[in-house]
Amino acid sequence: MAALDKFQGVVEDRHRYAAEWKAATGRKVMGYLCTYLPDELIYAAGNLPVRILGSHEPQDVSERHIYSKWCPCSRDFLAQGLLGRYDYLDGILQGHCCIHMKQTYVSWCRHLDPGYCYDLYVPPSLHTPMARTNMVRGMEELRRSLEEESGTAITQEVIRNALDVYDTNRRLLRDIYDLRKQDTPPITGAEAMEVILATMVMDKKEANIWLEELLAELKGKLPNNKDNGDGKLRLMLIGSGSDDIGFLRLLDSMGMEVVVDEHCIGTRYFWNITPDGADPLAAIADRLIAKPPCPNKDLEEKRRMAFLEELTRDFRVQGVIVMQQKFCDPHQWDAPDIKALMDRAGIPTLFLESDIVVPVGQFRTRVEAFAEMMEIGA
Ligand code: SF4
Repeated sequence: MAALDKFQGVVEDRHRYAAEWKAATGRKVMGYLCTYLPDELIYAAGNLPVRILGSHEPQDVSERHIYSKWCPCSRDFLAQGLLGRYDYLDGILQGHCCIHMKQTYVSWCRHLDPGYCYDLYVPPSLHTPMARTNMVRGMEELRRSLEEESGTAITQEVIRNALDVYDTNRRLLRDIYDLRKQDTPPITGAEAMEVILATMVMDKKEANIWLEELLAELKGKLPNNKDNGDGKLRLMLIGSGSDDIGFLRLLDSMGMEVVVDEHCIGTRYFWNITPDGADPLAAIADRLIAKPPCPNKDLEEKRRMAFLEELTRDFRVQGVIVMQQKFCDPHQWDAPDIKALMDRAGIPTLFLESDIVVPVGQFRTRVEAFAEMMEIGA
């Protein structure tokens, strides 16, 4: 499919995309960490926001800066900076999630001299009135800082225009996910992740045009109503910064269908639309508070479980794979609750622990055993 090829091209050559965008527009490229950082505000300032991503290759550069017992995402992301792959950046921002990512951010600012650095305070529990007050204040401070940095007035109208582009993007991604509810989804799990990864580093206006094209192509691929399904096991992938397409390709090659996900390179990034509101900064804060939560921000209510339940039902999930990043305590806390939730629904779960380099052979064996168990139980 032509549109899918274009997204794949960006993922494979994402640094070139950003560098060319910068050369063509004369504007700045800002890297950011975590889905709690509102990239639409970076965009409103006239910059290209690019999500920092890992490469999943062995490396020996991050250990001098952060502990080897910090999670793979934090080490892999920092390694990309230390290896010079993000030299084109004009700044880096983070929405505070956990101490691991904080250290990646601090090391990046201290040792890589990216120019502009901004650490957005995000309250640890987002479900209190005080948290909302702090989030709205945080948006205002970020707006002011970006305005100062760019020398561009970030008015309410400018923010609303950026929100239009961003919410269009979210709606289009939701439309693509809706197609995955079909008996025979017209897009695989690996392809869907490629689309999300590309939109995280692209100019969203361009990404939206390509998403429209992709939607039309996918709808053209839908089987007629005699579709009896492709007979593949329908899986949900749960995790944190799970950006390893290789693992999804492995699942595809094993005849498994990842029909939905709950992680930061998927639903946690784009699922909810900015609510209407007179003050667009407050509306951005409200979207972040209401978005599918990271376990870091979900105490004490644990709204995450209701979201998982909804996805399981709507996408008719038959099995769940939890990709646990090594040393990530926040996600580990939720493991017993996820297991209990899925047990109640009669859905088997497989927990895999991942490092920077995904142990493909070992995972293949475990997934094969899991698939066999599901087939026997079906
Ligand atoms: S939440 Fe977990 S996976 Fe994400 S950055 Fe923190 S420790 Fe790493």
